[in-house]
Amino acid sequence: MAQAKDMREGGCLCGAVRYRVDMTHAIHSTCHCRHCQKTHGAPFGMFTNVPVAAFTWLSRPEGEAHASRRAVRRFCKECGTPMTWEAPEYPDQQSFSSTTLDDPGGLTVAHELYTSRRLPFIAPIAGARQYETE
Ligand SMILES: [Zn+2]
Ligand SMILES: [Zn+2]
Repeated sequence: MAQAKDMREGGCLCGAVRYRVDMTHAIHSTCHCRHCQKTHGAPFGMFTNVPVAAFTWLSRPEGEAHASRRAVRRFCKECGTPMTWEAPEYPDQQSFSSTTLDDPGGLTVAHELYTSRRLPFIAPIAGARQYETE
């Protein structure tokens, strides 16, 4: 029997960027690395990974930043919302900022990355696997 899809939509703060995603096989992670702290302007970034076929842009982000050689970070050029982290080494995965979902409720964090850079007032999330780097 086919598994029911868990379709959700999301977008940037101003609404210029929109997407639709099937969350059936979604995996959620936080990343405490310096790049995520800087680009998100927050203690950590939170990303959802889905198979590329599960993700559809309704209107694409025009901003593109190469914070490292590994990946492209796409963002809304109008309002600056960080939207994605895309690395050629993971061509079958789409990674997007979890909190850009219209309803980010009910997400369970499976992995915490770069915990070596976690700020001292942020506690580890119970049940999430901890990785000092990635
Ligand atoms: Zn925007
Ligand atoms: Zn990071």
